[in-house]
Amino acid sequence: MTEPQPQPGTRAVTAGRSVNGTSLAPALWATTTWESEGLADANRRATATRAACFYSRYANPTVRAFEEAVAELEDAEDALAFASGMGAIASTVLALCSAGDHVVAHRQMYAGTLAFLQGPCARLGIETTLVDAREPGAFTAAVRPGRTMLVLAETPSNPRLDLVDLAEVASLRGPITVVDSTLATPLAQQPLSHGVHLALHSATKGIAGHNDATLGVIAGERDLVGAIWAYAVLHGATPSPTDALNGLRGIRTLAVRTAHQFDSALHLAESLADHPAVAASIHPGSPSHPQFDLAKRQMRAGGTLVALELHGGRDAAAAFLDSLRLARVATSLGGPETLVCHPASSTHASLTPAEAREAGVTEGLLRISVGLEDPADVLRDVLRALDAVAASLPG
Ligand SMILES: *Cc1c(COP(=O)(O)O)cnc(C)c1O
Repeated sequence: MTEPQPQPGTRAVTAGRSVNGTSLAPALWATTTWESEGLADANRRATATRAACFYSRYANPTVRAFEEAVAELEDAEDALAFASGMGAIASTVLALCSAGDHVVAHRQMYAGTLAFLQGPCARLGIETTLVDAREPGAFTAAVRPGRTMLVLAETPSNPRLDLVDLAEVASLRGPITVVDSTLATPLAQQPLSHGVHLALHSATKGIAGHNDATLGVIAGERDLVGAIWAYAVLHGATPSPTDALNGLRGIRTLAVRTAHQFDSALHLAESLADHPAVAASIHPGSPSHPQFDLAKRQMRAGGTLVALELHGGRDAAAAFLDSLRLARVATSLGGPETLVCHPASSTHASLTPAEAREAGVTEGLLRISVGLEDPADVLRDVLRALDAVAASLPG
């Protein structure tokens, strides 16, 4: 009889240890270069794919341990880490696409990804079609046979937590399919298990989880990851071994941190829904989410964010931020501290008014990243701020 696969929380503890020897904590390989034994050995290392112990931009043992751990959590053959989530996105797109190629993505996305596709990629002759992620069949209709090289989807998506149907993305024939799974973390969702080619994360967020590492990572089949490495080693968005060490330390506690945050976020979203200052309280784990059935099909939990739409637009959002005492006004997500941001004026400030409307980035929208504080304290803080907003609303 074969043993059942260990649960994800167990794998988060056991994964990524093959380069440790017998030490429980990974070693920090700060070196940039390694000695070779002579010409033949140096040549072998210089020409191999991802040779260990040659030069740190090619591979680094601490980074490798982090990559192994992510690969294991995503049930992938291999993974490749980058200096940031944007480093992962830029390197992957430029590794796979050339002038004249076509990309399909969607409007509800991290604004940096949109800006990259619409700025540098367009300038280089890589054309992007943006679809509405929530519309069934939208990706399928936008794919141009023979021309679409890449489909890039983000789910749950920034900042309104819309979902993309992973089964639809996986069913597309021809393009390489990439899913930015940052907002789910590998604990809530495994894109590869649906048949998508690559899972991508800004590990700066939940994976590293302590606001002390800037990191990106992709996971998928070894040949595809290796092909992207061959470009990425020239692109140079290489992660620092210190950040990889912090990323791996984050993975050790990922399951318990996210379990707390998933529950606290859902509790918060459901407790705010009926407040007079709230127009919509959005969390994929709540039955009131318009794509709740899809969330149940493809996610183990609804994630650590709440999207909160206030009555009263930007003034209400400003009054809300001014009234918080525990939660902090900051971008980023997935860390120990509850953070609130106003996407229209910060993360998504680069969008034109029309783009903002299409992406659902309204003036009254707030994104709350629920931290590790006691859920009752987070709820009390948010309710106090909402009461202040309600008191300031006309009528
Ligand atoms: C933050 C984020 C990114 C970019 O990651 P960085 O590490 O900041 O470069 C990409 N996608 C999503 C969904 C993100 O939240």
